[in-house]
Amino acid sequence: MRILVIEDEEALALQIRHVLNSEKYLCDVAFDGMEGLDKIFDGEYDLIILDILLPKMDGIQVLKGIRSEGLTVPVLLLTAKDRVEDKVAGLDAGADDYLTKPFAIPELLARARSLLRRTSEVKSSTLSAGGIEVNTTTHEVFLRGKPVHLTAKEYAMLEFLLYNKNRVLSRLSIAEHVWGDTFDLFTMTNFVDVHIRNLRKKMDDDREKRLIQTVRGVGYIIRDEP
Ligand code: CA
Repeated sequence: MRILVIEDEEALALQIRHVLNSEKYLCDVAFDGMEGLDKIFDGEYDLIILDILLPKMDGIQVLKGIRSEGLTVPVLLLTAKDRVEDKVAGLDAGADDYLTKPFAIPELLARARSLLRRTSEVKSSTLSAGGIEVNTTTHEVFLRGKPVHLTAKEYAMLEFLLYNKNRVLSRLSIAEHVWGDTFDLFTMTNFVDVHIRNLRKKMDDDREKRLIQTVRGVGYIIRDEP
């Protein structure tokens, strides 16, 4: 898996590269929008991590350039907290997900994994664990072959946990993924708990170990063999 990071804050760009390398991803860095777009057209990437505020050409222009060439590579936007309009413009221009600065590195990794897994599972769009099967194209969910009805938020949460299977996701990361940061995230983390409880009611029936496990003080995880 090859990732391109386009970020002009050199220390941050190099830190991201270091972390991605230690997770065994190949990673290139570009420090401005023009250099980034050149690299994208030169090479094959599985994911682009793209800052919006960049010299020479901003992230939105880079994104428009990528999509106007018909490239479907997933793009994770890095946005500044006080620039809601950038985020809207980014999603309109074809970004797949966004992360608000400042972010914790594990949050970045969770998003990256999620997007990379989506790419590698384009052919088989089924995610599964512990008797649950999720079709990410039709959004149908099955528990041991029987259909389960989930609300949109419950579905988003379950899918995010399954994309990051065997990894702990913080409540904040789940909240930001499901609601974005249009709401007060610290309030939303309580909503996460409520939705997790509802998901468990629908998924756990009479299994011995819960499908979605609580990691005390951290968040939630779905393991392959719950
Ligand atoms: Ca920047």
